[in-house]
Amino acid sequence: MAKELKCSDVGMKSCNFVAQGRDEKEVMTKAAEHARNAHGMTTIPPDVEKKARAAIREAQLKPFTAGQKV
Ligand SMILES: [Zn+2]
Repeated sequence: MAKELKCSDVGMKSCNFVAQGRDEKEVMTKAAEHARNAHGMTTIPPDVEKKARAAIREAQLKPFTAGQKV
């Protein structure tokens, strides 16, 4: 089952990025990449990572396509 993580759920209220992946690991990888590129976070602090993992949900959107930009 696909998973997703909304950037706004991790505290970036003005960001509408949604990381999607086949599993939690893929979502976290994409979220970390996005955090680095869009928010200048070169490393993810443990508390943010914890929050992010807790915020991961089953994807509500249309079937996920690998590499798709949201
Ligand atoms: Zn973001």
